[in-house]
Amino acid sequence: MSNQIELIKEKLQEADYVLVGCGFDLEKNLTNLEEQYYEPVSKMGITSKETLAEKVQEKEAVEWIDAILKSWYQKNHTLPVYQQLYETIKEKNYFILSMNTSQYLLQAGFDEKKIVMPCGNEGLFQCSKSCTHKIEENESYVADFVKRLPEILPELQMGRSIQEYMPLCETCKERLTFNVRSQVETYVEEGYLPQWQAYMQWIARTLNRKLVLLELDVNFTLPSLIRWPFEKNAYINNKALLVRVNKTFPQLSEEIHGKGVPVPMSAEEFLELVNK
Ligand SMILES: [Zn+2]
Repeated sequence: MSNQIELIKEKLQEADYVLVGCGFDLEKNLTNLEEQYYEPVSKMGITSKETLAEKVQEKEAVEWIDAILKSWYQKNHTLPVYQQLYETIKEKNYFILSMNTSQYLLQAGFDEKKIVMPCGNEGLFQCSKSCTHKIEENESYVADFVKRLPEILPELQMGRSIQEYMPLCETCKERLTFNVRSQVETYVEEGYLPQWQAYMQWIARTLNRKLVLLELDVNFTLPSLIRWPFEKNAYINNKALLVRVNKTFPQLSEEIHGKGVPVPMSAEEFLELVNK
C-alpha cells in the first residue's frame, strides 16, 4: 500500500485538476458530538436529545430544537477529515461534490464556489410545502433562536407550542424547513442547481488534462451521483486517475483497470497518510 500512497501523492502533485467526491460515510459516526451540540442549553440541565425530551413534552418541539442546535454547531465547527482534505488540495484547482448536507465541509476553509451539495444544505431554509422555489440562508434565524432558548424553553414547558417560534414562508405562511433531499416530495432543487452548473462547466474543462478523481467513503446509495460518473470520467480521460478510498468496497470496475487505485481504508486514515 505504501507504494500506492507514494504514487497517489505524485499524481496529486502533478494534477491540473482534482475532483473530490464526499460520501455519506464520511459523517456517519458523529453521535459523539451530541454533548457539544447541546452546550448552549447545558446550564439548564439539558445535555442530549433524551434529556431535552424529559423537559419538553411536545415531540415536534424536541425535533426542532435538536435540529436547530445541530445547525448552530455546524456553523461554527468542522471535522478533522475535512481539515485534512483541505490541506491535501488547497493549492490545487479543485471541485468538491458532497452527498452530505451538513455545514462541516463549508467550515473547513474551501471556496464555497467550488462545492456542490446535491442532497441539500442544512444552512438553507425552503417552504415546507414548496409553494415557492425560493431558498434562504437560515443563519440569522438559527443564531437568534439559540440565543432565545433560555426564555423559549420555560414557555414551552408552560404549554406554548413550538409552532409559534418556527419560521414561516412569506408566500403561503406555512412553515419553513431545511433544504434537504431527505424530504423528497417537497425538496427544492434551486438550493444547489447554480453550483451544479458550475460543476458541469468545471468538469468540461478537465477533458484530456491531468485529472485526479478522489472518491472518499462513497457507498452504494445514489451511485449515479459519484460512483458511476467518476468511473466514466476516468474511462474517457486518458490522463485521469481514479482513487477510490473505501474501507469495505474499494473495488474498481474492469473497464478502468490501470486507471484507478483501490484504497482499502477510511478517508481519514488515507488523508493522514497523504499529508505526512
Ligand atoms: Zn410557501
